[in-house]
Amino acid sequence: MRFLDLIAKKRDGGRHAPEELAFVAEAAARGLVPDYQLSAWLMAALCRGLDDAETAALAAAMAGSGERLGLGGLDRPKVDKHSTGGVGDGVSLALAPLVAACGAAVPMMSGRGLGHTGGTLDKLEAIPGLRVRLAPAAVREQMRRLGVCFFGQTETLAPADRALYALRDATATVPARGLVVSSILSKKAAEELDALVLDVKVGSGAIFSDAASARALARALVKTARGLGMRAVAVLTAMDQPLGRCVGDALEVRQAVEVLRGGEAPADYLECLLALAGWMLALAGKAASPARGRELASARLRDGSALRAFREVVKAQGGDPAVVDDPGRLPASRLSRVVPAPRDGWVARLDARRVGEAAVLLGAGRADREQAVDHGAGIALRAKVGERARRGGSLAVLYASDAARLDAGEAAFREALSIGPKPPRRGRVILGVVK
Ligand code: URA
Repeated sequence: MRFLDLIAKKRDGGRHAPEELAFVAEAAARGLVPDYQLSAWLMAALCRGLDDAETAALAAAMAGSGERLGLGGLDRPKVDKHSTGGVGDGVSLALAPLVAACGAAVPMMSGRGLGHTGGTLDKLEAIPGLRVRLAPAAVREQMRRLGVCFFGQTETLAPADRALYALRDATATVPARGLVVSSILSKKAAEELDALVLDVKVGSGAIFSDAASARALARALVKTARGLGMRAVAVLTAMDQPLGRCVGDALEVRQAVEVLRGGEAPADYLECLLALAGWMLALAGKAASPARGRELASARLRDGSALRAFREVVKAQGGDPAVVDDPGRLPASRLSRVVPAPRDGWVARLDARRVGEAAVLLGAGRADREQAVDHGAGIALRAKVGERARRGGSLAVLYASDAARLDAGEAAFREALSIGPKPPRRGRVILGVVK
């Protein structure tokens, strides 16, 4: 088989056989063909699309391109959650220990922030000492001991995805449904999960901003995940404004800790957390229905067992467990600036993508994979869509390490925001479920 023929076949709208997609995965994982040929195939796949059978075959081949996590001996059902990415989406931080405290095993394989979106691994690294680069053997050991672990994709898990994702990022070929589905699910299949809940974001901050494309992505994810042997549902959640009230690594950890401690939780964050926990527990067989799962999760939040599970996982991964009792130990950027409301009214728009871009300018995100992030930088939102703004009152507090970053971040943040004369209709957070 010649790779050139595969490029031409997809360019001309052809349909690949499973062995052809196995060759693509193998070529990417082992570096058998040059990047320019892989990139050309990726662009052809974006333009021509991959159908359901091609997507499933590519996902299986990519999962098989490396090691499996090997969590076979666990005595509890394994369930993970994957978000398609958003702004202020720090739900995984509280969700993994919460669901583990309810009796399921949660191997939470997470990613780094890129572009305007944040990543769970960066957020966790805001906790002094915490390690997320764990070898599969260390993940297995922690899963056996605690039933929960936060870790990143290693060199050996789905290496075809590592190679293809890096090229997609550099060739504007990320937003292609078949490529997104096979990328996400190849990693999840390598975890050998029993169940998976997909949080598919919809809105300006999401990978697909329109509802129809997001729903089509959700359907493809659920169908392909089932074909790979996982019980799966997708929950469509709003991402037209940031989730919760914090954007930035340490700020988001702080918010998650507050929620786990039973403090005041932003309503949209709590809704998303409990809805996802309910579905994870139902799919894992730990609750008779998502509603019962939600009740169980609420009880574990209230009785402090989710907080204890979080403290244990922080300690096990080398982090400073004292942050759980004293979030003031988390890093904070040197400078801060309040953004005052220019007039009286109601917050009518808080564009998630633009807020995410503002956070990147403040230093909280990375414009490319090599860039370091400032864990203390970010935005604490004081007013969200539908809330009152009073002239001169605080809409947000921005954090950064230098004044130039504060200026750039403030300018972008102001563009994200509109104040209107009347209260707008408040949207829902949970927009639907694809079963
Ligand atoms: N997340 C992934 O892991 N892969 C994609 O293609 C998009 C989001």
